[in-house]
Amino acid sequence: MDVPELVIDVRGITKSFGGKVVVNGLDMQVRRGEIYGFLGPNGSGKTTFIRMLCGLLRPDAGEGTCLGLDVLTEAARIKEQVGYMSQRFSLYEDLTVLENLDFTARMYGLADRRAAVERIVERMGLGRYGKHLAGKLSGGWKQRLALASCILHEPRLLLLDEPTAGVDPGARRDFWDQVHVLAGEGVTALISTHYMDEAERCHRLAYIAYGDLLARGGMEDLIRDSGLTTYTVSGPGLHELARELGGRPGVDQVAAFGLSLHVSGRDQAALETALASLRDGAHTVEAVPTSLEEVFIDLMRRGRPQ
Ligand code: ADP
Repeated sequence: MDVPELVIDVRGITKSFGGKVVVNGLDMQVRRGEIYGFLGPNGSGKTTFIRMLCGLLRPDAGEGTCLGLDVLTEAARIKEQVGYMSQRFSLYEDLTVLENLDFTARMYGLADRRAAVERIVERMGLGRYGKHLAGKLSGGWKQRLALASCILHEPRLLLLDEPTAGVDPGARRDFWDQVHVLAGEGVTALISTHYMDEAERCHRLAYIAYGDLLARGGMEDLIRDSGLTTYTVSGPGLHELARELGGRPGVDQVAAFGLSLHVSGRDQAALETALASLRDGAHTVEAVPTSLEEVFIDLMRRGRPQ
């Protein structure tokens, strides 16, 4: 199929449950081959939005296309052509790895199931686990099998909903390496995550809080647009200092990282005033780049419902 330049192109997507708006007029444009990170606190509507994109749920309002197909009228075709992976890997635990893959191949009605399964086993390095029960695999291998099932029918768009939750850092890194290889082949991915290291591996990001899209862009854009300035403070009495600094005007957040505090604020002059008394010889105050985590914490606090 011809994949359009904008693989996801939706506007005003809205959904309510029981009178409560959980996705509020969201726009999203994702280009071909892009890895697009989707972040935000639990309960913000990420899963609901992803399910609307892949044809599992109908929006109450909004319009647009996914893979060039209309999200309102062509949901069934979208469903066939995307690779969807949810946090619950949806594997059959009492089937072997090969049986799981064969089952998926049948579900998608693939013409040459055997060749497709062989190809994916080779690609994902699943060979030595072929006859193992899926339920007996480690978390990392389960996840790899889930990704294999998700890409077996060679979708051009992956919608991955917290695919790495609860998986160790090595397996998460392998997973992201795979996603980057796929992106290099022109596959587009929308991935929700809570992990900052994963957010940093995305080409672009969107941050949603309680249904509203609060920020989007590349990592540098988000950091710049946040307007936050950050300092580290090290020296004696950090525990008490953290509490005390948190109450000073100009300090929007304080967090301990090892032997220093990270102190951030949006009003740079006020922040410097707050830290002035710590330039006392006993403490060290240093300006450092603001991290993505600080930006997201700031967005989360400001986006919290009243
Ligand atoms: P996230 O993926 O960001 O954690 P969700 O999309 O899962 O957020 O949930 C957003 C809100 O919608 C939550 O308050 C959740 O309880 C509610 N919600 C999700 N699905 C349903 C449903 N089928 N029926 C009722 N409420 C739902």
